Amino acid sequence: MAGTDRIAVLGAGQMGNGIAHVFAQSGYSVTMVDISPDALAKGCATIASNLDRQIKKGTLPAEQREAIISRIATATSIDAIGEATLVVEAVTENRDLRFKIFGDFDRHARASAILASNTSSISITEIAARTKRPEQVIGMHFMNPVPVMQLVEVIRGLATSAETTARVLELSKAVGKTPVEVQDYPGFVANRILMPMVNEAVFCLMEGVGSAESIDTVMKLGMNHPMGPLALADLIGLDTCLAILDVLHDGLGDPKYRPCPLLRKYVAAGWLGRKTKRGFYAY
Ligand code: NAD
Repeated sequence: MAGTDRIAVLGAGQMGNGIAHVFAQSGYSVTMVDISPDALAKGCATIASNLDRQIKKGTLPAEQREAIISRIATATSIDAIGEATLVVEAVTENRDLRFKIFGDFDRHARASAILASNTSSISITEIAARTKRPEQVIGMHFMNPVPVMQLVEVIRGLATSAETTARVLELSKAVGKTPVEVQDYPGFVANRILMPMVNEAVFCLMEGVGSAESIDTVMKLGMNHPMGPLALADLIGLDTCLAILDVLHDGLGDPKYRPCPLLRKYVAAGWLGRKTKRGFYAY
């Protein structure tokens, strides 16, 4: 069980609220921090409705609902991370924002706290270099939707210590996940393999090889994927997909990772997928 660990999650978006949910469900006290009060309110509402879904499915006893919710505090200031033994950052996929936040963590987090990032692609080594404790910085890459998906990709930066890695592997298991340790290269393993497929699906759409529905149906029925790549991109967020592809393209320097112009166009239009109710599909 949770012992003396306290968790802070920075960012209450789709990933942040899911991470807060799984830690609170496993008995940890969690503080969820977001600069946007609206995002915090939405994050809490999402956690409540996801708990209701688990209860309906019979995977969570109804009497645990209130206790789980009561373990989650919210805050709009980074000061609130002061008690945490593990800080998990899940803010917007933007390098400069992350670098600044990790610089700020040093001033606000306990000296002994582990600082984890849920980044999909940004270098853990570079993030860690922004802090005075690079050996305590690690990637803890949860999958979407967090309460449902089994995997945590645990990414070791160049300086990440064996102790930090062991602790994060242990904490991932304590919240019922299966951690897999990987090394720090652009996109790690998950997005190094997933995003080129998503990008190729967008090229197929742009070139008129098939409609969104036909591309997704080919991949669902032909490859047994539970979701087609375009529907998955809408779920992930097209801005996040583009940010990851830019990191792969810049970091690996190979033109095979160049983001499809149609993806850029959708992001420029503010069509970001489910979160804006419009992406490759309308919601
Ligand atoms: P999101 O847009 O849903 O949420 C991001 C949240 O960060 C927003 O609520 C925003 O208000 C908040 N934020 C921005 N700046 C902040 C700051 N300075 N302090 C505190 N909060 C701040 O994004 P998301 O989909 O939850 O993604 C978050 C991270 O998780 C990204 O790094 C993304 O790459 C990664 N990730 C996403 C997925 C996915 O499928 N969407 C999967 C795995 C990992």
